[in-house]
Amino acid sequence: MVNNCPVCGSKGYVILGKSKTNSISDKFINKDYNVVKCNNCYSYFVLPQIEFSNEQWSLLYNSEYFSCQSKWLIKQRAKELKQRFDKAKYYLKDKNNIKFLDVGAGEGKTLIEGIGRGWEVTGIDIVDNRIENAKINKIKFTKAKFLEHEFPENYFDFIYLDSVLEHVLNPIEYLIKIKRILKTNGILYVSVPNEDSLFNDVRRIVFNVIGRKGITEKLKPFDSPYHVIGFSFTSFKYLMNKTDLGIKYFRNIGRKFDFLSSPPNKKAFWISLFFLFPIEIVGYLIKRDVYLEAYLTKEK
Ligand SMILES: [Zn+2]
Repeated sequence: MVNNCPVCGSKGYVILGKSKTNSISDKFINKDYNVVKCNNCYSYFVLPQIEFSNEQWSLLYNSEYFSCQSKWLIKQRAKELKQRFDKAKYYLKDKNNIKFLDVGAGEGKTLIEGIGRGWEVTGIDIVDNRIENAKINKIKFTKAKFLEHEFPENYFDFIYLDSVLEHVLNPIEYLIKIKRILKTNGILYVSVPNEDSLFNDVRRIVFNVIGRKGITEKLKPFDSPYHVIGFSFTSFKYLMNKTDLGIKYFRNIGRKFDFLSSPPNKKAFWISLFFLFPIEIVGYLIKRDVYLEAYLTKEK
């Protein structure tokens, strides 16, 4: 089973190429890994299956460079978060006493938003990166692996899974467990990168131009952001159908004004404005933006 597609279990695939590595992963990659595309459900994944120890994964993730966020970006993210919560609340038919869970809670901004709404709030993550305001007693937090931690069944009204599935080797197990602990008619918010974005097409052209033809633009399992599995419209829908979660809302979204996330005295601002911004606009117009998001529900 190890070499089968982690989403549909099928054996057929096409090899797309090698992945970029970095100075840390270079030291312990001892297999000939390839990024492949499943012929059946069109998910992207790595073969052979990645076998890194917990220590090796921590080495990679701890080296992540967290860039300083501009005021504009912080405000923008806060606004988006509020809108996502409002939308979930709408689907929950303005139910009170909402029990909320964030899987992969990170800095804990969702936990703060939930507490502000008077909800019962729980967060889980493998590391505790919460900012001070998210470390209050009212917020329940567990430092553990989601699949290894017991939660009560049919308990949560709203579960949040933002940018998590692309980092796990077994996305189906995550969704099955989430379905078990979600109440009937509860809401699951999921977002993942869209591997078939226009932005990735441009990256492939750049790789070809600079003579790195063997390197694929899909996923980045051995370099930040360490995505080990990837989805498109088709494979994301396949994943939702397979886990029998009802789709309330599904869309393709982008980060159109991301150049504002760096101050104009930084190189990143100008690269974003003249290179990424035009791609984002066209990607938006032809519906090949960089993210996919969905509001799902447990119907039975
Ligand atoms: Zn598949």
